[in-house]
Amino acid sequence: MFGIPVGLDYSWFLVFILFTWMLAVGYFPLKYSDWPPYLYWVTGAATTIMLFVSVLLHEFGHSLMARHYRLKVRSITLFIFGGVSEITTEPPNAKVEFWVALAGPLVSFALAGLFFVLEPLAAGKEPVLAVFQYLALINFVLAVFNLVPGFPLDGGRVFRALVWARTKDFRRATATAGNAGRFFGYFFIMIGVWFLLLGDLFDGLWIAFIGWFLESAAVGQIQQQRIQTLLSGHRVSEAMSRHYAAIDAATPLEEVVHTHILGGGQRALIVERGGQIVGLLTLDRIKHVPREAWPETAAAEAMIPLDDLRTTRPDAELWSALQEMDRDGVNQLPVLEDGRLVGLLSRDDVINYLRTLTELTPLRP
Ligand SMILES: [Zn+2]
Repeated sequence: MFGIPVGLDYSWFLVFILFTWMLAVGYFPLKYSDWPPYLYWVTGAATTIMLFVSVLLHEFGHSLMARHYRLKVRSITLFIFGGVSEITTEPPNAKVEFWVALAGPLVSFALAGLFFVLEPLAAGKEPVLAVFQYLALINFVLAVFNLVPGFPLDGGRVFRALVWARTKDFRRATATAGNAGRFFGYFFIMIGVWFLLLGDLFDGLWIAFIGWFLESAAVGQIQQQRIQTLLSGHRVSEAMSRHYAAIDAATPLEEVVHTHILGGGQRALIVERGGQIVGLLTLDRIKHVPREAWPETAAAEAMIPLDDLRTTRPDAELWSALQEMDRDGVNQLPVLEDGRLVGLLSRDDVINYLRTLTELTPLRP
């Protein structure tokens, strides 16, 4: 939609059933006691779908605003806790971050207002009115909840943008907003436990679960920031392996596996033909060839050809190389200089390098 791929995570189907059931068995029968039984379910399912359409529009608020500022939007995915826009470029300044973060809750507020003003149109049609009332309420709750100033919630991003604008220090702003995210994570867990103690099992578990999710997401962001700080200024050439294994394009997979992978501990092999690099053979590629075909399959048939291969340069930022691996879901990048292979950078290399850096970093007084 709008040129952005929209995905449904498996967990969405679970939450769709859960919400429909909750509305059909709990919420609507409590408010309206004289409907025929099927109507509770139809209205429950329709409301749940409209709820996720609302969530999707909230995400489009973020994504379209991001695109307006020329940030790259990779996808929108709906999952158990709502939706997530995968925006792959970091915001260049506090103003962009502020507006991209705020756009989602603004859409939710607008939807709440829209369903609220539509309510009189549904007068006399009780189920339609019930759906509008619920959507007006839930969109309002969504907007307010998302504005809680704990990173990575939208409000946390707004908070980070404000700290960033004030201090001109992106890292400090992330740390401050991330710690606020951890605080609110624990806060929600406590509220959840309180609900549980009051006997409200469902809401208690739900709120505690959201708190836990928020806390771990905040920790993840803080750690990512730490890694970025540690790696900043360091180049691919410092961490890459220069002792990579190369094999001839004609080598059968059987031999590759026994000699180089099981025997040599390699996880990715450079494939050469006549001294020229032609591709990369990874464990994943070998797995896709049936076991019985290994003796007859040459490395060249299973490899990722050079043209399809993501590569990096020795002078590239180590942090961006790591992000590139994350984005493309690969575990290594061949390092090329003027078309010539000079090394191989794997995730393991980056982790080892990080360990060394951490050990070398003096403790702060
Ligand atoms: Zn949002």
